[in-house]
Amino acid sequence: MTSSLVPVSPTPVTERQQEVIQCLKQVVEPTLKSDIISLGKVRNLRIVDDYIYLRLYAGSHQQQLHAEIQTVLTSLPWCKKSYIQLCTIPHVKTTLAISSGKGGVGKSTATVNLAIALQQSGAKVGILDADVYGPNIPQMMGLGQLEVNVIDTPNGQRFVPLEAYGIKVMSVGLLAEPDHPLAWRGPVLHKIITQFIQDVAWGELDYLLIDLPPGTGDAQITIIQESPICGVLLVTTPQQVAIADVRRSIHMFRQVGVPILGIIENMSYLLFSNQPTAIFGSGGGQRLAVELETPLLGQIPLDPRLCAGGDTGKPLTLTNRESIASQVFIQIAGALDATFSPVTSPI
Ligand code: ADP
Repeated sequence: MTSSLVPVSPTPVTERQQEVIQCLKQVVEPTLKSDIISLGKVRNLRIVDDYIYLRLYAGSHQQQLHAEIQTVLTSLPWCKKSYIQLCTIPHVKTTLAISSGKGGVGKSTATVNLAIALQQSGAKVGILDADVYGPNIPQMMGLGQLEVNVIDTPNGQRFVPLEAYGIKVMSVGLLAEPDHPLAWRGPVLHKIITQFIQDVAWGELDYLLIDLPPGTGDAQITIIQESPICGVLLVTTPQQVAIADVRRSIHMFRQVGVPILGIIENMSYLLFSNQPTAIFGSGGGQRLAVELETPLLGQIPLDPRLCAGGDTGKPLTLTNRESIASQVFIQIAGALDATFSPVTSPI
């Protein structure tokens, strides 16, 4: 796993910031066995006079990190007080983002098939379709009902996610209903999406997959900066243009400090008389993975059944687990599970 060690800050890293970062590196997340700086859990670090301000982005199972940070920071003799803002999605453990440099490369296809693969392994899964340019997750999940209910909770009004194949689904597209009371418009879109993530009554989830809008615009950066995303999966096709876009995305994620878990190369080849035939060139994903020191998590073949599954709302991992494409998604889901929810053997 690769990550930026530099906190998000437009100002140069000062000596005191370095001290704080070194101090925070002593705090290790026990499941991932890595320090919270490398994991991108600390952002917006600021030091004003002798006070430390930071944001901790954590899953629902990681909130003890708050107290641990407070404790290690007391070892800094000059620090009078530290203010830690906990950023979390209630009841959600691991939030992952699925991103791509441009549209049409199979980001949503990867999201739904990974979600099914994770759910089949026993995890509780939700999908947030944040792709404002093409919010098609509900259709890919076979959801005919597009009416979103709102409930009152002690913490205010919350959206009730839809459910398909045991997976909770919420889409920004559902907010665009013309007569919906919470409809959004125009330039404040990305702020509203970020708020939207918090305003969904997800219930207990092991994984929340966020299908990001493609590219590296304001909407993507805001969602990534403001959400407790544990890592990003980047979907690309083997073509050069798509790859150049992915490179830009990777730099953006690294700047924000969110770890990139790896690259999924989609439409890698076509099986022709049982022989893999590269349609869009070959080796692009692998070259990119080496260059950017990010693992290539899998190569998905072109398969008309993936496309049909999207159109009919029945993901391939659900209807044909044996297909090569499904097997790659299942393998990636297994790798995610091994990282984020390793089964601990009884003592
Ligand atoms: P994105 O979310 O990146 O815009 P989609 O997942 O919507 O892309 O995919 C674009 C189109 O390509 C969809 O019609 C989808 O069914 C199809 N598609 C995606 N991956 C494959 C694949 N490996 N084989 C065949 N069709 C695919």
